[in-house]
Amino acid sequence: MIVKPRIRGFICTTAHPTGCAAHVQEQIQYVKSQPSLREGGAKRVLVLGCSGGYGLSSRIVSAFGCGAATLGVSFEKAPEENRTATAGWYNNVAFEAAAAQEGLYAKTLDGDAFSDAMKQRVIERIQKDLGQIDLLVYSLASPVRQHPRTCVLHRSSIKPLGEALHIKSVHVDRGEVIEVDLEPATPEETANTVAVMGGEDWEFWIEALGSAGLLATGFRTLAFTYIGTELTWPIYWEGTLGKAKEDLDRAAKAITPRLQALKGEARVAVLKAIVSQASSAIPVVPLYVALLFRVMKDRGLHEDCVRHIQRMFATQLASGATLRLDDVGRIRMDDVELGEEIQAEVRRRWALVNTGNLAELGDLSGFREDFLRIFGFGFSGVDYDAEVDPTLGIPQPAA
Ligand code: NAD
Repeated sequence: MIVKPRIRGFICTTAHPTGCAAHVQEQIQYVKSQPSLREGGAKRVLVLGCSGGYGLSSRIVSAFGCGAATLGVSFEKAPEENRTATAGWYNNVAFEAAAAQEGLYAKTLDGDAFSDAMKQRVIERIQKDLGQIDLLVYSLASPVRQHPRTCVLHRSSIKPLGEALHIKSVHVDRGEVIEVDLEPATPEETANTVAVMGGEDWEFWIEALGSAGLLATGFRTLAFTYIGTELTWPIYWEGTLGKAKEDLDRAAKAITPRLQALKGEARVAVLKAIVSQASSAIPVVPLYVALLFRVMKDRGLHEDCVRHIQRMFATQLASGATLRLDDVGRIRMDDVELGEEIQAEVRRRWALVNTGNLAELGDLSGFREDFLRIFGFGFSGVDYDAEVDPTLGIPQPAA
């Protein structure tokens, strides 16, 4: 079939197999062009949420920067004869093939990371193939979680807290700056969001792997968060998502003492805003990102997903690294985004931006390009008019 982007709101329902492979390759080539992180770097890494965004970049830096064996978990849709897979499915295939070419162990387990069954599959795989792990990267972003003990299906909401919010945003397709009204979350919606995106599942993973004796001495685990600034606080940090992210801070504090005997630690890492499947779904954020990208690109300070994660591994996870921690003990990677001059300029533009000047003040086209790239579209060297086999010739088990 010939695969073209089919965009519905903030998702693209098609993904280009060759384009996704090009996306993975581009990240690998970047990591290989950087100084090696092999010395003292983690050697056996588990990435939860390995198929896209920050998790995929973490897996790529672990493997191609540190030379690590990687086990990944993701929740992706396999292809059918006449329907493409999700982008993450193609990313996993491309990653595994590239790792195999370099003689690096790479296995991906697809299914629900929140379930006990997946934890058991991972435990068995580690026991069989790796013995133990040195690093666990927790990079899940999901709208739902079926609780493994209560079986309740929790759905997250992306809403402000307290009062209704009237705020600027952007209609990405139409390129229009708009004002939106967002109703506040109920206490139940907030609790559900914490149940999905908070730290409980991270704790369950550490408990399960720890009880099975699979955490190596010096084991570290990282979960990712976003804080941002007052422009996005009303919908992010001070909203339902912020409550869930606060719960990650709680979980990090609860996990670290359990790792004491191993001289291990759990940390939350605060990352910069990028375009990902998850972040595109958050109202307001695309407008902020479009302004931020313009300001950072103009100053030569822009970092994409893999550059950001490469810098985190090189400056914060390498042996002997001096950690840049805040008062809560989080690793701060958002130092460049939150630079005073950058934020002052973004704030100035935020007050001025309208549909007429958006192209001048912001980088909505950069946002759109990054969004399409997530699904494998927009890579030079990929023939988008050529027929491709969406199954990549990989036989799929009957549904
Ligand atoms: P993403 O949408 O690109 O990737 C999410 C990953 O989670 C995918 O691999 C997906 O398959 C996997 N996943 C979702 N549900 C799953 C399930 N039930 N079982 C197994 N795997 C599942 O997301 P992202 O933007 O890279 O976000 C990853 C983390 O980084 C999140 O915690 C997010 O809050 C954080 N973060 C993101 C940004 C940003 O701007 N995107 C900024 C800072 C922090």
